[in-house]
Amino acid sequence: MRVPGVPFVQGRNSFNDADGKHFGIAIHNTSNANLASAQDEADFATRRTDGISAHFYCDKDSVVQSLDTDARAGHAGSTEGNQNSIAVEITGLNSFSRQRWLDSVAWDKLASTLAFVIRTDPDYAGFSVRRASVAELRANPQIKAFYGHDDMRRAFGGTTHTDPGPNFPWDHLIAVVQAAVDGNTEEDDMFSDADRDALTSANFRALGVYQDLDEITYRKANGQNATEPNKAKVARQALERKVAELAARPQIDIDDLAEAIAKRINGH
Ligand SMILES: [Zn+2]
Repeated sequence: MRVPGVPFVQGRNSFNDADGKHFGIAIHNTSNANLASAQDEADFATRRTDGISAHFYCDKDSVVQSLDTDARAGHAGSTEGNQNSIAVEITGLNSFSRQRWLDSVAWDKLASTLAFVIRTDPDYAGFSVRRASVAELRANPQIKAFYGHDDMRRAFGGTTHTDPGPNFPWDHLIAVVQAAVDGNTEEDDMFSDADRDALTSANFRALGVYQDLDEITYRKANGQNATEPNKAKVARQALERKVAELAARPQIDIDDLAEAIAKRINGH
């Protein structure tokens, strides 16, 4: 599958998978000291001749999909790894500190992308949002969980790679993906129930205001009396106060707020 809303750039090393099924999600870092962007990595993946590939590339701002999740990537160094997992390459180095990792990944986009796969791809039904141990992976190469390149190395061999490195924040990855799988997206968390009710009510009234404003525009265009009706004015002022109050909260992103309001006004 291709994840909606995620840019797709078809990578070159897309291998036929016997059953098209994958069970785990393998985390890598690109170990590229230049820290090329996800887009640059995906562009490179269209022409690389070394048989290496990944399903997703992620940097601090974005996620790019390079292979359909049904395709087999060359990423693990072992048949067990390549056959059973999709590969996520995150731009970074094994030497990154925990803080550097936390600051260097588009965690929200990565989480929503992986949550979409976990929730939508039937192969991932029953996926456990946790990191599998090496012993578990060795005992069951089809385990439905996260693991790293280093975990695959220790379970199956075939590679010397030890990414994503000792300070990779697995706990953070697990937490953000679990939240996205559960539907606790940032947008959902943005408003309390009371805020949501107030906005819905304000937007309902705003619809009336906009109809009135249309009417005013029409009347002005036709040389008629065009005073804003008092009821509309009160509703507009109430909406503006509520928006100003919500926008004043530091955790609220004003663009997200505008988008949320636009969605509700437009009725979708
Ligand atoms: Zn790797």
